[in-house]
Amino acid sequence: MAVIQKSGVIIECVRGDIAHQPDVDVVVNAANAWLRPGAGVAGAIHRAAGPELARECEGLAPIAVGEAVMSGGHRLPNRKVIHCLGPVYGADEPAAELLASCYRKALQLADRCGLASIAFPAISTGVFGYPLRDAVAVALTTVLAEVPQLSAVRRIRFVLFSAGDLAVFEQQLAECEGQA
Ligand code: ADP
Repeated sequence: MAVIQKSGVIIECVRGDIAHQPDVDVVVNAANAWLRPGAGVAGAIHRAAGPELARECEGLAPIAVGEAVMSGGHRLPNRKVIHCLGPVYGADEPAAELLASCYRKALQLADRCGLASIAFPAISTGVFGYPLRDAVAVALTTVLAEVPQLSAVRRIRFVLFSAGDLAVFEQQLAECEGQA
């Protein structure tokens, strides 16, 4: 596990499943506009949370690209889920700003709700086709810019699904250490 600290906030990355992060208050869903169960992250989160999550989400959808909304965690081990709609690479522009908006809004929402820890997947890097290295750079730049403004959030975890994705993330996180 690679870890850095900035402004009293721990930023770490692990290999794992976003639906199995029992020690964080809120997990982020790489959602679709209608907040329905789907493939990848959304499938894993909805499977673990149970059908009540989809029912609650009906009242929150649709959401716009770059937006973040919060629901309960239902049968997940987490108090809350924040659903973000990342950009479809090559279609939603400006892609980097829209992706950055997901991370920023999710952090602001968690902070406003007094949540101390949050776990993110690599939003948009699956079905939505965002190149991983570019997406990681956007995620880290955005999170590092946001942490000085956070008062409740004290731990930010990135959960990568594959060993290869984790290696990319760890390398970029280590490069951020000097700037943190
Ligand atoms: P998007 O539609 O935003 O691209 P996906 O769910 O297709 O979202 O994928 C986003 C990233 O999450 C991909 O890198 C994918 O490998 C990864 N991923 C898929 N399932 C999980 C999971 N259960 N936990 C963490 N990451 C996952």
